Amino acid sequence: MSFFSSFFLLVSFLFFSPCLSTRTSPFFSTKPINPTNYHKIQSYTWHEFGKFVDATRGNKINGISELKKYFHRFGYLKMDNLNFTDLFDDHLEHALIKYQEKLGLIVTGKLDENTVSQIISPRCGVSDFAPKFMHAKRHYAFFSGRPRWSRSIPIILTYAFSPENVITSLSKSEIKGAFRRAFSHWASVIPVTFSESNDYGFADIKIGFYKGDHGDGEPFDGVLGVLAHAFSPETGRFHLDAAETWAVDFDREKSDEAIDLESVATHEIGHLLGLAHTSVQEAVMFPSLRPREKKVDLKIDDIKGIQALYGSNPNFNDQALSESDTSISNGVALSKRPFTWSNFILFLILSIAM
Ligand SMILES: [Zn+2]
Ligand SMILES: [Zn+2]
Repeated sequence: MSFFSSFFLLVSFLFFSPCLSTRTSPFFSTKPINPTNYHKIQSYTWHEFGKFVDATRGNKINGISELKKYFHRFGYLKMDNLNFTDLFDDHLEHALIKYQEKLGLIVTGKLDENTVSQIISPRCGVSDFAPKFMHAKRHYAFFSGRPRWSRSIPIILTYAFSPENVITSLSKSEIKGAFRRAFSHWASVIPVTFSESNDYGFADIKIGFYKGDHGDGEPFDGVLGVLAHAFSPETGRFHLDAAETWAVDFDREKSDEAIDLESVATHEIGHLLGLAHTSVQEAVMFPSLRPREKKVDLKIDDIKGIQALYGSNPNFNDQALSESDTSISNGVALSKRPFTWSNFILFLILSIAM
């Protein structure tokens, strides 16, 4: 390897390593993204924000208005702060501080490397803040009004795939398998069962892959950037960006931009059930997911949040939840008893910037 290659690798690593890096978690340290490959992707949404590293308040920087729009979109800049000029002003600094607090980064109010790295990571399209955000501590959160599926426990929810809004890069059975596993993660901890239906019109949860503007005011943005979004209970709409390189097996899908379908499905199902975004970086309900990252096991934070809405599955071994809060922040995976009901699926999300 030449000196320049080595230097490039080192710089890339320093810049792009652990997006969520203020804490070293077992999860991220054992499943690192290849930062060099990530850096090589030059066409992904938000990659231009990389040039804002070290920008500070008072600077006028070409394109920083786009960063303000980003913060507005995800709930960090209020409507009355809508000053989308290219000046790094007080509003942007406040948004940055709020962002760093919410996502568990070191709070500097500056566009440091860790923060920019987190900002450019692909993520869920759901806002990080609902109006009158519930449970706004540094862990799991609910949507405003704490909505959940209101039928009596135990609940059976049906899900179906849109016959028209599909992708062909994966087979139907591969897609259905990924969703079945994603639903089962949640079904194993709460008294809710997910059942696939062929009746798309009447299914509780409607899943489809869409490109660009698809009629709900939340257009998708192409490769990376926003990956998917879902709506809070009891809407049931679950949309995925058809432009992504969706994967069910990274050994077979070698793309640097590959996104794990089961991971995104598991996250969005959390929204469909009523969970908003958490500040716990290791949790499934944290808003971002990097390319080639797999994040499907519910963490204590996810489980406590969803059980606060629905109670526990009688087959769930809740002794694991008696572990200390320390284990929550360290993202300890729980051992779960096998799910013994009929196998099923689900999903979700929410658009809160309403
Ligand atoms: Zn989300
Ligand atoms: Zn949509």
